[in-house]
Amino acid sequence: MSEFFLPYFCIMLHVKNLTFAYTSKPVLKNLNFSIEKGEHVSIIGASGSGKSTLLKLIYGEHDLNKGQIFWNKTEILGPKYNLVIGYDFIKYVAQEFDLMPFTSVSENVGQFLSNFFPEEKEERISELLDVVELTDFAKIKVKLLSGGQKQRVALARALAKDPELILLDEPFSHIDNFKKHHLRRRLFKYLKQKKITCVVATHDKEDVLGYSDNIIVLNDSKIIANKTPETLYENPRQSLIAAFFGEYSTLEPYGIVYAHQLKVVGNSDIEVVISNSYFKGNYYLIEAELNGETMFFNHNSKLENQSKVFLEIFR
Ligand code: ADP
Ligand code: MG
Repeated sequence: MSEFFLPYFCIMLHVKNLTFAYTSKPVLKNLNFSIEKGEHVSIIGASGSGKSTLLKLIYGEHDLNKGQIFWNKTEILGPKYNLVIGYDFIKYVAQEFDLMPFTSVSENVGQFLSNFFPEEKEERISELLDVVELTDFAKIKVKLLSGGQKQRVALARALAKDPELILLDEPFSHIDNFKKHHLRRRLFKYLKQKKITCVVATHDKEDVLGYSDNIIVLNDSKIIANKTPETLYENPRQSLIAAFFGEYSTLEPYGIVYAHQLKVVGNSDIEVVISNSYFKGNYYLIEAELNGETMFFNHNSKLENQSKVFLEIFR
């Protein structure tokens, strides 16, 4: 949401004219956006588009070439101006998590909690282990865990002192599908309940849909969209954005059409030749040729290769 429509006190994170380069060519150029308290924002974009870099900059890990970042009234400063990298009110869970391998899951989660009230500390650790579903592993040494379990320890540790802002870089990338959906729901629900502002870099639409208030799309060093998931989904405008949400085709003169928006009909202007059917669970994704171009649509059964069907768009 643009800051122009918001009273100043709602805005917590404010990124102004941010430009950053590791070497000579900027990775991020003149970025502007703001995030309200308790909002959940996803950053999406192709690999190498600067998602992780943006999170690191918000954490204060590098110095900006131009621009400013504010958390409320505090300016986030990089290592040139800040002796210790990072801020107490921000937690950042990197793609490569940094845990203490030779101590237990509990000790890792409780590392930054005060020992002054041992009972409260124990209670807090077990609450956090419950959020990330690691209760049974409390006493296990971290080095013995799988990648996905380590990622969950890193998440619990970041939550331990309830930060005001949490930055998550591909937070479920190491976690298997059996656990992922459940964990995602629990974690994002927890953050909303506690009004913890959350910025998630991801390439997985499952991390976004149903959770994000806004999506920031990075492409070619710039923000090409900052909109609600509903708006972007309904009107993706660019193939990069449509591709994030699912299979689609660009059909002249109709534009971007998702595979589920096409249905087989008795007769129409769109006649295609089937080239393949892929089983997708509750439907088949059908690959077909239209005027020499490959396109996709969903159908409830397999279709015979080389057969011809007519399609209609339902949007
Ligand atoms: P993403 O997370 O979207 O995949 P990154 O932020 O990791 O993208 O990287 C953005 C660009 O910056 C890439 O071209 C990458 O090669 C480059 N890059 C990332 N980290 C460094 C670094 N420490 N030094 C130099 N270049 C880097
Ligand atoms: Mg990354």
